[in-house]
Amino acid sequence: MTAPATTPAAPTVHPGGQQSGPFPGHPAAAARFIADVDRAHWHDQALWFVRVKRDRAAAQLPAWERLRDLAQAIKAHALSDLARYLEEFERNATAHGAVVHWARDAEEHNRIVHQLLAERGVTRVVKSKSMLTEECGLNPYLEARGLEVVDTDLGERIVQFRHEPPSHIVLPAIHIKKEEIGELFHDKLGTAAGASDPKYLTEAARGHLREKFLGAQAGLTGVNFAVADTGAVVVCTNEGNADMGTALPPLHIACMGLEKLVPRSEDLGVFLRLLARSATGQPVTTYATHFLGPKPGGELHIVLVDNGRSALSGRDPFRRALSCIRCGACMNTCPVFRRTGGYSYGTTVPGPIGSVLGPTQGPGAHATLPFASTLCGSCADVCPVRIDLHHQLLAWRKELVLGGFAPVGKTLALRLTAWVFASPWRFALAGRLARLALRLLPRGLMATLSGAWGKQRDLPPPPPESFRDLYRRTHGRP
Ligand code: SF4
Repeated sequence: MTAPATTPAAPTVHPGGQQSGPFPGHPAAAARFIADVDRAHWHDQALWFVRVKRDRAAAQLPAWERLRDLAQAIKAHALSDLARYLEEFERNATAHGAVVHWARDAEEHNRIVHQLLAERGVTRVVKSKSMLTEECGLNPYLEARGLEVVDTDLGERIVQFRHEPPSHIVLPAIHIKKEEIGELFHDKLGTAAGASDPKYLTEAARGHLREKFLGAQAGLTGVNFAVADTGAVVVCTNEGNADMGTALPPLHIACMGLEKLVPRSEDLGVFLRLLARSATGQPVTTYATHFLGPKPGGELHIVLVDNGRSALSGRDPFRRALSCIRCGACMNTCPVFRRTGGYSYGTTVPGPIGSVLGPTQGPGAHATLPFASTLCGSCADVCPVRIDLHHQLLAWRKELVLGGFAPVGKTLALRLTAWVFASPWRFALAGRLARLALRLLPRGLMATLSGAWGKQRDLPPPPPESFRDLYRRTHGRP
């Protein structure tokens, strides 16, 4: 099975943007982002603002925790019988006039989409947000074959202008300041120099995109949910761009990962309540459009994509990551993501869920991601489908260290720690030596020996004795 494509390299490097060249691992990529202290700070603040909104929205719904339980159970059930539900979905979608295609991997997905467009002489396609098409590298694939692909979500259009992938799955341009967008739009859309008023810039983007919508021969969307018992696909947007992009041209292509399936239409009520509140703190997404068959005189093609998902579904404990509804809440709350930005992960889906999914695509290239976490568990606390993200990150660390994918220094340090912790007398001796070293060695040397960890931290003054010694002295032998 072909691994999903990683984020394509960007030809131009903008401030705060994705760096070109091979992915250097999370620590090095994060260091670049953090070097811009001001940007790292407001990125952190902006995402925390969204996290707080999410908390408020969740608190307004008394059934919130019950909904999370239900969502977890529905997803677990759907994934346990995925083949049957997929066939049921195909039958019902076909009965309503849609054409269902199956793609084993990213290459097959891209080929199918291109063929559908090429056979109909399409030269311009308008696209709403779809992380699946990012994962498959669809835009560069189509552009290399002469098609114009216009991302119509405002944030996505901004990063497309900058030749960058999204840095966040819900807020694709969250790493860019409004002043930088003003400069970009001045260059691309001819807005007034120095203008950075969001309303003015949004109006300009709306006018620009209106032209693109009117001249497109096909609309391409992602899929938030597909319903097995009806054959419908549901697409959620806040800007209405998926609706505009599919209402005008005759051809609609909807691309979805296999895991987007829910068994019954009643299940949607659970997920639609959870999705918008978890993603942005809104009570509901502005547009949640249900497509049941093509519009009169039009065509609806649904491309079902595996691209590693079946393999993941047979892999404990990581199979639960397939329940993800891509709300982005785990990113907004993660202290590492907030401070280091989406491009520090080198994957289409970043953050805690990306750090679980990344190594499934190739442990070597993504070995640093599961270590980019404090394991505080905040991601699991906010996840609307209760994915045990921090436990999965810990499980990955074990696999990576045992598989020889972790850096040699880290592997040796962990093995040494395990050896010390396995014996009471070795543990006591190590404590004595550490207290002695902290007393005798210069602070600068200790910071150097602590590696990256010691760069921004002061080691505490050493205690005169261990807790065990203290207890023995004050209480007698334990
Ligand atoms: S793992 Fe959970 S919190 Fe993170 S994006 Fe997926 S559904 Fe949302």
